[in-house]
Amino acid sequence: MADILGGLAGVGFGITVALVVINETPGALASPGGWLTAAGRLTGFLGSYLMLMMVFLIARIPWLERAVGQDQLIRWHRRIGGWPIVLIALHVVFVTLGYAKIDRVGPVRQLGIFLTHYPDMLASLVAFALLVMVGITSWRIVRQRQPYENWWVVHLYTYLALALAFAHQVVTGLAFLHHPLPKGFWIAVWAAAALSVLAFRVTLPIIRNARYRLEVVSVHEEAPGVFSIVCSGQKLSHLAVSGGQFFQWRFLTRGLWWQAHPYSLSAMPNPPHIRVTVKDLGDHSGSVARLKPGTRVFVEGPYGTFTHHVRATNRVVLIGAGVGVTPLRAILEDLPTSVEVSVIVRSSNEEDLIHRDEITALAARRGGTLHELVGSRHQVKLDAAALKRLVPSIATCDVYVCGPAAFTDHVTASVARAGVRPERIHTEVFAF
Ligand SMILES: Cc1cc2nc3c(=O)[nH]c(=O)nc-3n(C[C@H](O)[C@H](O)[C@H](O)COP(=O)(O)OP(=O)(O)OC[C@H]3O[C@@H](n4cnc5c(N)ncnc54)[C@H](O)[C@@H]3O)c2cc1C
Repeated sequence: MADILGGLAGVGFGITVALVVINETPGALASPGGWLTAAGRLTGFLGSYLMLMMVFLIARIPWLERAVGQDQLIRWHRRIGGWPIVLIALHVVFVTLGYAKIDRVGPVRQLGIFLTHYPDMLASLVAFALLVMVGITSWRIVRQRQPYENWWVVHLYTYLALALAFAHQVVTGLAFLHHPLPKGFWIAVWAAAALSVLAFRVTLPIIRNARYRLEVVSVHEEAPGVFSIVCSGQKLSHLAVSGGQFFQWRFLTRGLWWQAHPYSLSAMPNPPHIRVTVKDLGDHSGSVARLKPGTRVFVEGPYGTFTHHVRATNRVVLIGAGVGVTPLRAILEDLPTSVEVSVIVRSSNEEDLIHRDEITALAARRGGTLHELVGSRHQVKLDAAALKRLVPSIATCDVYVCGPAAFTDHVTASVARAGVRPERIHTEVFAF
C-alpha cells in the first residue's frame, strides 16, 4: 500500500511540475527576472502540492486509516513537515525578486506593490505568516518544550492559512490563467481535501457520537496511577472495532472538553459498556481519574492497524509492559480461537501488572501460555535467547509489542534477533 500511495503522490508531483513547466517559454525565461519568477512559480506550486498531501494524510479518510494506520500517516505527515513552508518561503522570495527586476524597483517596494495592486495578496501574506508560526511551533525542539495542547491549537491555524491562500493560487497562478482545465482540476483536488476533513474529522464523528451517546459510568484504579474508565452507550453492538485499536477521547467536562487524546480500548466492547485504561503521565491522563459518572464523552475512531487482522500466521506472541498491555489484552480477547497464543508481560513489581486477572483468565480459556516477568530490568532480560526460551517457536510467529518506547525498541530488536521476519513484528507506540 505504501508503494501505491508513494506512486500516486509521485504522479501528482509530476503533474504539478508539468503545470508550471508547460507555461514557461524561452523568451519569458530570458526576460528580466524570468528565471526568478519561474523558480517562484515552481516553488509555490510544489509547496502548495505538498501542503495538499499533508491535509489528505491527516484527514482521517477511513480506507487510508485502515490500510496504513494513523501512526504511519502521521509519521509521513511529519516527514513532509517543513518542506511546504520552506518552498512557500522561497516562492515569496523568488517572486518578489523577479517582479522587482521587471518593475525596476527594490524588493520592499515590490512587496508594497503586490499588497496594493494585486488581488488576494494581503490574505495570502497573512496565510504565510500563519504557516511560519505553525512551522516554528512544530519544530521538534520548540514542540517538545510546550504542552501538546498548545501545539495542537496553533496547528489548527493551518486550515485558516490554507483557506486564506487558496484564492491567491487560483486567481493569480499563471498555470491557471486562460487554462480552465488545470484550474478546474486544482480546485477539485483542494475541494476534495477540504470535504474530506469536514466529512471525516467533523461530520462523521458528530453522527457517530449522536448515535452512541457515550457517558462515563465508573472510574476505578487498576494499579498505582492507572485508571480504567468505563463508559456506557447506545447501539455499541454496531461499533466496528478490533482489539488493539484506539479512539481519540474527548471528555466533555470543564477543562477537558477542548482536547482529544488517544487511548486504546483495554477490552472489546461489551454493550452497553466500553472501557479504556489510562496511565497518569500528564495533564489529561492525570485528570481522567477525577471524571464523574454521567460525564458525556465524544470519541473519534476507531483508528489503528495494531490488530490481529495484520498477522500472517496462526501463532501469535503478545509482549507488553506497563500500560502497553491494555491494547494487547483487547487483542487477546479478539483473536480467533484457532490462533495459538503466548503472552509475555513485564513489570518491575506485581502491583503494576495491569489487568492481571483478566489476562490470566483469557489466556487460560483459550489454552494459551502466560509468562509474567516481574523484577528489575537487570533481573529480567528480554533478549533473543530469553524470548526463545519462553516461546521456542517464536521465529514462526507474529509478534505484537506494546510498552514504553525504550522497552518497545529493545524488545523489537530482540524479537528480530530471535528470527522473526520484520513484517511479522507489529508494534504500537503510545506517542505520535
Ligand atoms: C495510538 C495511541 C494509543 C494510546 N493508548 C493509550 C492507552 O491505552 N492508555 C494510556 O494510558 N495511554 C495511551 N496513549 C498515550 C496517551 O495518549 C498519552 O499518555 C496522553 O495523551 C498524554 O497526555 P497528557 O496531557 O496526560 O500528557 P502530556 O504531558 O501532554 O503528554 C505526555 C506525552 O504524550 C504525548 N501526547 C500528549 N497528548 C497527545 C495526543 N493528543 N496525541 C498524541 N500524543 C499525545 C506527548 O507528545 C507527550 O510525549 C496512547 C497514545 C497513542 C498515540
